[in-house]
Amino acid sequence: MRQRLIWSCVLLLLLANFYTWRGVAARAAGQPTIHFLNVGQGDAILITSGDRQVLVDGGPDNSALSEIGRIMPTGDRTIDLVILTHPHADHVTGLFSVLERYRVNEILATFVEYDSSLNREWLKAVSQSGARLNYVDPADDYRFNNLYIDTLLPLTSSAQSADINDDSIILRVGGDRSSVLLMGDAGFAVEDSLLNIYPGISADILKVGHHGSRYGSSLNFLQRLNLASAVISVGPNSYGHPAPDTIDRLNQVGAKLYRTDQSNTVQFNL
Ligand SMILES: [Zn+2]
Repeated sequence: MRQRLIWSCVLLLLLANFYTWRGVAARAAGQPTIHFLNVGQGDAILITSGDRQVLVDGGPDNSALSEIGRIMPTGDRTIDLVILTHPHADHVTGLFSVLERYRVNEILATFVEYDSSLNREWLKAVSQSGARLNYVDPADDYRFNNLYIDTLLPLTSSAQSADINDDSIILRVGGDRSSVLLMGDAGFAVEDSLLNIYPGISADILKVGHHGSRYGSSLNFLQRLNLASAVISVGPNSYGHPAPDTIDRLNQVGAKLYRTDQSNTVQFNL
């Protein structure tokens, strides 16, 4: 009986020790930070959380590499997770050099098929890299130290796509203080789906969909999110991005607006 009591005490102390040190480790891991890299016309977003890194898209060329190198801790050659929102050139091209330069543990991609020579090359590079390839499933969320990553869309496994922009992987990421909604290149229809599927959705920061296209960021959507800030990842382009109407709507909801073409890399602590 007495021995059992002693063992119970030992177990209790071990557990207390485990939870204490886990707390200390989490604090040492620090506050996550999101960096919207200036890669010209495209998206590349690096999120750090202690010793872990997640890269969302790679931009239209390898200009993200120098910024990633500056932000990564010296000696750290591993990116824990790379998420490709959709396989258009302005999102995937920079990832080729990332796969060459870094060890990538896991790649998360959309299951929607998209036939292009660039995408075929990309899938080949992925299989040669040794990274684990996973397809998005909103049931699978991620946590890296204090950073959480919720995958929101796409939901269904309809293999063919009318518009691959609208099949972008939509993410909500954050730490203890702030949350960010990453819209990829999605437009109005996806915003409506998000509001229907996640009626209580909110975010402190919005990565504006499709480089500020006029076909995204509806007033209703922006009002529902309750934003403090919005980031447009954009460079010189012939599409009229960002559209003046979209900027008007962001101003109407009082979001403080940042543009990578004006502010260079934009970063927030989460
Ligand atoms: Zn794009």
